[in-house]
Amino acid sequence: MKLSRRSFLKLTGTAAAAATLTSLSLQGDKKAEASYQPIRLHYAREVPTICTFCGVGCGILCYVRDGVVVNTEGDPDHPINEGTLCSKGSSIINISYIYDEKGKPKLNPNRLTKPLYRAPGSDRWEEKDWDWMLDTIVQRIKDTRDRSFEEKDANGVTVNRTQAIAWLGSAFCTNEENYLFHKMARAMGVINIDHCARL
Ligand code: SF4
Repeated sequence: MKLSRRSFLKLTGTAAAAATLTSLSLQGDKKAEASYQPIRLHYAREVPTICTFCGVGCGILCYVRDGVVVNTEGDPDHPINEGTLCSKGSSIINISYIYDEKGKPKLNPNRLTKPLYRAPGSDRWEEKDWDWMLDTIVQRIKDTRDRSFEEKDANGVTVNRTQAIAWLGSAFCTNEENYLFHKMARAMGVINIDHCARL
């Protein structure tokens, strides 16, 4: 019999449910009541996203309740991973959680939620809002480009480039986002372009 991945999962899920029901009925009502665990996905909103760890770009379903990620799992409808995740992707929920000394999960207080800026020569980071951060980045890119733009090289060949800016893509972004970053860098005349995964 030819078994697709989806029908295999359905089959094993049904078998597991049947085993659980049998076990519960054998244990009797009291034990079944005692073993009840609140369902983590109860009232949670499903948010599809992309794994942040590497350039493979596996799809992940995040379950969010009251603004907090309460569960993550591989997205079975995603064309790249079809529901599977490697060990890093499987533990991605730990970006949001750390564990106390008793092994209980609690929200990670070290997670960055605001942009941080370190001024030239400074030894400390300051919190800034996104408007300030984006305006500053844009202004500095423009100033640097204006100062360093070359229309022709030493041989008189038209180059329309700046060599004072380097652009680094990110495996945290999708292929499509990196494609757009690349187009934007080229449009500005940036020629020093790379990516942490050399994609
Ligand atoms: S789940 Fe693993 S292979 Fe997939 S993107 Fe994340 S780190 Fe890469």
